[in-house]
Amino acid sequence: MPHYNAYESFKTKKSIEKKKRAKERAFGKTVKDVDDFIIETCDKYGVVIEVRYDDAYVLYDEEVVLAKLRKDINLVCNQVVFPGDKVVLYKDEEDYIITNMLKRTSMLSRIKKDSTRHDDIGTAKNIASNVDLAVIVVAAKEPPLHPKFIDRYLMILQNSGIPAIICLNKCDLKTEEEENILNIYRNINIPVVETSTYKNIGIDEIKTYLLGKQAIFVGNSGVGKSSLTNAIMGEDEIKTGEVSEKTGRGRHTTTTSKYYVWNDNSSIIDTPGIRSLDVSSFEASEIQDYFPEFDKWTNTCKYKGCLHYIIPIEDCGVKQAVKLGIINQMRYESYIKLISSLTNDNRMDEVLEELQLKKNTKN
Ligand code: GDP
Repeated sequence: MPHYNAYESFKTKKSIEKKKRAKERAFGKTVKDVDDFIIETCDKYGVVIEVRYDDAYVLYDEEVVLAKLRKDINLVCNQVVFPGDKVVLYKDEEDYIITNMLKRTSMLSRIKKDSTRHDDIGTAKNIASNVDLAVIVVAAKEPPLHPKFIDRYLMILQNSGIPAIICLNKCDLKTEEEENILNIYRNINIPVVETSTYKNIGIDEIKTYLLGKQAIFVGNSGVGKSSLTNAIMGEDEIKTGEVSEKTGRGRHTTTTSKYYVWNDNSSIIDTPGIRSLDVSSFEASEIQDYFPEFDKWTNTCKYKGCLHYIIPIEDCGVKQAVKLGIINQMRYESYIKLISSLTNDNRMDEVLEELQLKKNTKN
């Protein structure tokens, strides 16, 4: 098993703590009055692969069954269980009832700001639980590799406490351009695996990261997530859970979650919620926490709380490091793009001009 701790070097700041508390509150809220619902262990469980209002679709004994939450919880299903949750089922005549849930190890969620509140608390929208590892899948050339996508995913995943690795698929098309981008992440200790499903490269390597884990693949469409999943499944006994229109009991919906089990304890969740992660709930001041390579330079900034954006270069250690080429330009651009959108301050071009940098088309 490869050893890594991608986030060891990241800082923990007050803003992150605050978000964590908000998340914990949302996390535990729904079942606070039913303390026997969450259990530590059980002999047999199913895995929730999709939840639609009051119905949970659970992969149980190698098939997808429809289950309802036990009555005394008195909440609708989609407030309590989420894809990835491990649940204990009881069959009552013909319906499956979720009687218990195994304690979660993680929850991938987005905090949505509540515009009616001034305390910055917001609510958490849970996307997938018990995710042990996220694979950010990108491709060489088709579609082009943009570091800003990687940066955004890394922020969201770190914020949910989920370790991430990067998988560059289509490495058969890789050139120096992609190699340079990947090096940025290797340098900040994010593991990078290169794969080609066409040439069967890197499949065994990525399996070593996925083994024994409930993983998710995130990334834009067309990068090869399905091809990769197929390559990983290979000739193994394939158990796939898929919620189709049929099990959806005639509801008109196009959402489809998939859950692939490729080895006894190793699975890949594919849920539509993952595809639309956005970062609008982050504070501009906390963005730098996700750029650990800035750390060394922030102490030399003249002003406390410097955003390393429109402050003149003489007063900003981070900008000086970018100009000297010590901090990677693409990462810095990715950073100021986030700052610009979160602060509604569109002076990116001026900032780059000040540093005498040409805007990178990849960002
Ligand atoms: P998804 O949308 O992320 O699930 O991507 P798909 O798995 O559907 O793949 C998108 C396209 O990329 C398809 O035309 C695949 O044949 C192609 N593709 C997948 N893997 C590779 C690869 O390793 N190399 C190259 N050159 N193309 C690939």
